[in-house]
Amino acid sequence: MNKETEHAGLLKEIESCTACGLCQGRTNAVPGEGNLNARLMIIGEGPGANEDAEGRPFVGRAGKLLEQMLDSIDLTREQVYIANIVKCRPPQNRAPKEEESEMCLPFLLRQIELVNPDVILLMGATALNNYIDKKLKITKTRGQWLTRDGRPVMATFHPAALLRDPNKNPAAFKDMLAVDRKLKGK
Ligand code: SF4
Repeated sequence: MNKETEHAGLLKEIESCTACGLCQGRTNAVPGEGNLNARLMIIGEGPGANEDAEGRPFVGRAGKLLEQMLDSIDLTREQVYIANIVKCRPPQNRAPKEEESEMCLPFLLRQIELVNPDVILLMGATALNNYIDKKLKITKTRGQWLTRDGRPVMATFHPAALLRDPNKNPAAFKDMLAVDRKLKGK
């Protein structure tokens, strides 16, 4: 099976998934999107109101900021693959519960296996805690290289957190430069 066919099948599975309670409140599942041969994969937390309405990850103001962050290292969102820890919107934009993240994680792992990116950038604590380690703090761990399955992984602030506190911007844009260096093998 080629990548496109496998990806389309995965999206269908996600769109009809009822494995956790988050399916009850969704308008649209937000499986993820992007370049199936991307060298960089972005992983966020879960859909918010705009994402739920459109069925696409990182739209609205946080999406615009993500695009600016990518642009700072000469990447477009079409060149990367973007996904979330949970694919359905948690009510009132709360963080996903542990059981919801655990139930949804296999979809993300299949996306990572399919795209096989060189580098993963985790955005925010939910992505860091569910993909790497529940004990890590985003404020302490961001900007450091971590590893999972032999692949370099960095965590940085979620664009929504940057919108709430622009003082975090310099650190996040510095993290983007580190990602750029890693992609260029420096
Ligand atoms: S959040 Fe994930 S596990 Fe829960 S219903 Fe949606 S797709 Fe299924």
